[in-house]
Amino acid sequence: MNIAFIGLGRMGWHIAAHLARAGHNLSVYDTSSTLPADWVKAFGGRAGRSVGDTVAGTELVLTSLPADAALQAVWDLAQPTLAAGAIWVDHSTTSAEIARRLAKAAKSQGRHFIDAPVSGGTVGAEKGTLAIMAGADEAAWSVVEPVMSAYAQRASLIGPAGAGQLTKMSNQICVAGIGQALAEGLAFAEHNGLDPKKVLDVMLKGSSTSWMMENRAQTMIDGKFDFGFSTTLMRKDLGLVMEEANRADVSLPVTALVGQLLSDVSAMGLANADWCSLMQRQRRVQSGK
Ligand code: NAD
Repeated sequence: MNIAFIGLGRMGWHIAAHLARAGHNLSVYDTSSTLPADWVKAFGGRAGRSVGDTVAGTELVLTSLPADAALQAVWDLAQPTLAAGAIWVDHSTTSAEIARRLAKAAKSQGRHFIDAPVSGGTVGAEKGTLAIMAGADEAAWSVVEPVMSAYAQRASLIGPAGAGQLTKMSNQICVAGIGQALAEGLAFAEHNGLDPKKVLDVMLKGSSTSWMMENRAQTMIDGKFDFGFSTTLMRKDLGLVMEEANRADVSLPVTALVGQLLSDVSAMGLANADWCSLMQRQRRVQSGK
């Protein structure tokens, strides 16, 4: 299939690589001056000169962009050369509102827009084991679902446009609380003179185990945060959640608190670090320094 891939960041780089390995013909684009050429050197395909040039002649467009503003900008730039009947799958985490709006616009043009945010982190992207949660119509979904098997262990159609983003918000609500709970539990163990690695080892076999514990607790103990999902992007996600919750009069006290704690983490100079640097905030609070 001829596929345009836009946004070759921490996630997009790997997702696009799996598609190339699966034999698809890719044209890629990113506003970074180096990423597209580096990607083409590694995986083949073509680097587009612009968004319009990248999507021209493709049946499927995939995006992995930071947030609503970038998605809207790319969408606008793509319109003149986007093929009739093209399907657009957005793997970014955005508001449900923009997903519904772009799906409506696409439908009026005879095209399709699918909101398909992902979970599983950069490791899941690299290993091709992402979980995808989508809002789409059945016809478009049946075309793209087999393509996604190149990089996802599960791709689920949840409901109509926007349902994917609302599902991702539910995921982030759960993950936010777990991240702070891990920071508190591990820092508590350290504070009491326990070996946190031994504590982790036994907890992994107990009732508090989770994906977060399996994939992040060790790096939190080691103070290693130069990878993963940035504090800035997690704050963006929780901001989207709180906007949606406020609109619906839903109370999310723990999520709201973790959003506030992450603003402390940013102020500590860790905006680009993995958001589990919540651990550093917890250590600082406990040490009183
Ligand atoms: P990233 O910042 O590493 O990558 C985004 C890429 O988009 C960058 O390379 C950037 O140059 C490019 N970009 C920005 N604006 C652009 C534009 N107008 N045109 C073309 N390219 C543009 O972010 P990421 O960590 O890869 O995350 C991408 C999306 O996936 C985000 O919405 C994020 O919330 C979501 N996500 C990330 C993770 C993770 O662990 N990193 C996990 C799940 C979901």
